[in-house]
Formats: sequence, structure tokens, C-alpha cells
Amino acid sequence: MRTVDAYAATSATDPLVKTTIERRDVGANDVLIEIAYAGICHSDIHTVRGEWGDTTYPLVVGHEIVGVVAEVGSDVTSHSVGDRVGVGCMVNSCRKCEACLAGEENYCLEGNVGTYASVDRDGTITQGGYSTHVVVDADFVLRVPESIPYEAAAPLLCAGITTYSPLHHWNVGEGTKVAVVGMGGLGHMAVKIAVAMGAEVTVLSQTLSKQDDSMRFGATAHHATKDEATFEELAGTFDVILNTVSAKLPIDAYLGLLRRNGSLVNVGAPAEPLSLNVFNLLGGRKSFSGSMIGGIRETQEMLDFCAEHGIAPEIELIDAAQVNEAYERVLSSDVRYRFVIDAATI
Ligand SMILES: [Zn+2]
Ligand SMILES: [Zn+2]
Repeated sequence: MRTVDAYAATSATDPLVKTTIERRDVGANDVLIEIAYAGICHSDIHTVRGEWGDTTYPLVVGHEIVGVVAEVGSDVTSHSVGDRVGVGCMVNSCRKCEACLAGEENYCLEGNVGTYASVDRDGTITQGGYSTHVVVDADFVLRVPESIPYEAAAPLLCAGITTYSPLHHWNVGEGTKVAVVGMGGLGHMAVKIAVAMGAEVTVLSQTLSKQDDSMRFGATAHHATKDEATFEELAGTFDVILNTVSAKLPIDAYLGLLRRNGSLVNVGAPAEPLSLNVFNLLGGRKSFSGSMIGGIRETQEMLDFCAEHGIAPEIELIDAAQVNEAYERVLSSDVRYRFVIDAATI
């Protein structure tokens, strides 16, 4: 075991505080990573505040991690000391079920082991990336290409793959018309990735306040969903609508924006059930579906894709001591578009 510095939640209501945690010894197939940057995902806030079920404290969150390999176990051949690497939302899975065998460990039938707040195979609770070091099984460690700006790479490990995977699954490319609902951490990455895939991209945001950013990221249009005329004007337009919003949206209104065979894909996770009129799926053979992060192979593919196309998240780099303030700003949508903690300040 080694003791490392970290920022931890001690209860659902207290601010995160600097502390130390234990990391396991580097096993034969493990990698010790010296963390350089950790992104702040909205899921981190839900988890530390106990909004997604009971949380065991103290807890260190963070599942958008980049850093450098500091040590490898004797069986590790895929990573070497000094490599720039990343860790996303999961750190293990059963490796035997049909999802794992298909390379979709994110859909492991036994449940993947989350990077934080999950029970690891040794029975301990996993602790995430708001820390100086982490020990992770080599099979769940990604290569982060050097051409991706180091401090901006971290959010790709959650926001990047969460949007890349459904766009890829629904065959977005040249000739497809994509709408991205919500222009936050996920949404702005969805725009950049869909544009790089060759699609014609429209942003559907509550207001026009982020219109300039939409255009800068490569979208061809930006509409306000507060304006009811938007839903008339764009009726029957899109092949894929990627909904990144976690609020309760009027699903029928969005289904009306799909073309024949179109799909409305949810990556946002509203707490309340949604309702829809099935007749709106029948006409036009439309789909309403969901998607959750991506497998390790696809996450690597996404990182290589972003490097090849020169795309990276827009970030605001902060010191670890600013994390509580950053949480409040995330909750009031006051971030363009992702906070990243400089782990050197932990
Ligand atoms: Zn996340
Ligand atoms: Zn599995």
C-alpha cells in the first residue's frame, strides 16, 4: 500500500477536503499512474452528494484522468514507464460475459467496476482521480496521444466517449444530419465529434447564448428550444438527435424532429421517468434509445480519432482548492465547458 494525497468528500453535505488515501500495491497486471489532470464530471457531484444512492465516505471521485505511467507490474506489456495514459469511468469488469467478450465492458452483465464508489475485486471501494496517483489494471488504461493537449485530454475519458460511442453506433458520417440537445460538457464534445465524423450538426439549446460557440465548434445551425417555432421549423429533419440533457424533456416534441428511421438517443440521465406517445415512434419507424460510456477498445478508438482530427474539449484549468467553488459553477451551468483540476496542486 502507498499513501497518496487526494481531495475527498466526507459526507453528502460537507465540502471536499484535502486528505490522504491508500492505493494498493502494484500487482502483476497493474499500472501506477502519476496523475497530471482530472476532469470534473456532473456525475462526480451527484455521487458525492448521495443523489444516486448511498455513498460510502470518505470518497474521492473523478473519472476523467490523465497522467504518466510511473510503474508497471511484471506482466504488463501494453504500457511502459513514462507513457502518457488515461483512465475513464471504469477500472475492471468480469471479462467473461458476452458484453465483455464483445469488448463492451461498459455493459458487463455483472456490472463494470466504476473508477470510484464501486466495490473492487479485492472488496475495497474504488477511489477516483482527484488525487496524485492511482493504481489501475493495465487492461483498463488507455493510451493518450501526445498531440492531444495534455490538460484538455482528461474530459475525453468520460464526456468524449459518452458522445462518441452513440454517434458511432448510429452510423453518423457524411450526409447525416445530427442534432445535439444541450451545450454543456457532453454537448460541446458531441458537436465537435459529429462534425469531425462528417455530419451536418445543429445545436438545440435553451437559448441562443452559446450560438457563437456552436458555430466555432463547427455546427451549421443553433436553435433555441425555448422558441416553439424551432419545433415547427425543424420537423422531420434529423437522422440522429443526441440528448445530453439530464432534465425531463418533452420527448414527443423531439421525436417530431426526426426523419424516417431516425433515432433519439439519450446520454443524459434524468432522475424522473419520461413518457412518450408510441404512435410517434411507429410513424417513420423511429427509435428512442440510450447509451452509456463505451468499451475500452472504442475509448482508445475515440482518443485516436480526436488526435487525428485535432479536436479536444474546451476547459477551464483550476487548482484543487477551487473544487468546491467549481462544483457550484457546474450546477449553475457556469462553465465553458469542463473544469479540469491540475493534480500538481493537490
Ligand atoms: Zn462522467
Ligand atoms: Zn462482463
